[in-house]
Amino acid sequence: MNIGVIGLGNMGSGMAATLAKKSFPVFGFDLSSQALEAIATQGVTPVAQFAELVALCDVVILSLPKALHVEQVCLGHHQSTESILALGKPGLIVIDTTTSEAQTSRKVAAELAKQGIEFLDAPVSGGPAGAASGTMSMVIGGKESTLATVMPILAAMSTTQVHIGDVGAGNIAKIANNLLCAAHLITTAEVVSLAQHAGVDADKVLAGINAGSGRSGVSQVNFAKWILNDTYNSGFTMGLMRKDVGLAQNLCETLNLSLPLSETVMDLWRQSSESLADNEDFNAIVKLSDSQLY
Ligand code: NAD
Repeated sequence: MNIGVIGLGNMGSGMAATLAKKSFPVFGFDLSSQALEAIATQGVTPVAQFAELVALCDVVILSLPKALHVEQVCLGHHQSTESILALGKPGLIVIDTTTSEAQTSRKVAAELAKQGIEFLDAPVSGGPAGAASGTMSMVIGGKESTLATVMPILAAMSTTQVHIGDVGAGNIAKIANNLLCAAHLITTAEVVSLAQHAGVDADKVLAGINAGSGRSGVSQVNFAKWILNDTYNSGFTMGLMRKDVGLAQNLCETLNLSLPLSETVMDLWRQSSESLADNEDFNAIVKLSDSQLY
């Protein structure tokens, strides 16, 4: 199976390189010529023309910033011929790893199905390091039969694949996960600050939390890897996490749900744009909790 990866940024480049390392024939496309040049050194064949990549491939993996990019690439602008819908052959499978929206996934899947093209929403966790080492986790929406067809590809990219439900269900699970991660960054920063001001060092209180029931991915990984050592270089930006928190907020509004603590978390992330630029590391949100500590 020829695999095309569209979007060769922090995540897509690692996924493409991982699949190439595991002997899959991989072709890459990105709007950025720098991204195309960089991927050529990773065993991936760069393709400068979108139409050429779509014609070549049996499976297309998307790793794009937002839902609107997914819709443009899959369905095109009005009457556009530069889209997977216009160019994809029947039987093509699209695996969308973008952290996107369920309604976009459902719309795109329904349109592509009219041409015999299948679609899975398969957002990922694990960051650029997980993408580059094939150790991501994926939450997946779509048909069981489509999932079975591409399972060897998913298993080469990730250690965990959770089939959540129909198309869109993967997006909902990912948004729920990232809202928790966004909250954990703030709540963990606050309790570390509390302990520090009460005379207990940050690394000691974190060791205690990680041995107890308050632990999370943030307390176990983010603080040691990117926050306490002041590196802030996880490869996931404030801009993308603010987008994910915004997706959670949209979902709450659509469902007319009131979630008091989550609303405070969403407000704090939205307000963070006043002091933390889109290209800063997402872990930098902790700096708003205690300016003396972080
Ligand atoms: P990124 O900004 O580094 O990469 C996105 C790439 O898409 C860029 O190279 C850009 O040029 C390309 N692109 C944009 N529009 C395009 C188009 N129409 N055609 C072809 N290429 C196009 O973003 P990223 O950090 O790799 O994240 C990608 C997705 O994965 C996002 O939805 C993000 O929320 C999600 N995600 C990121 C991480 C992380 O740690 N970085 C972790 C999990 C999930």
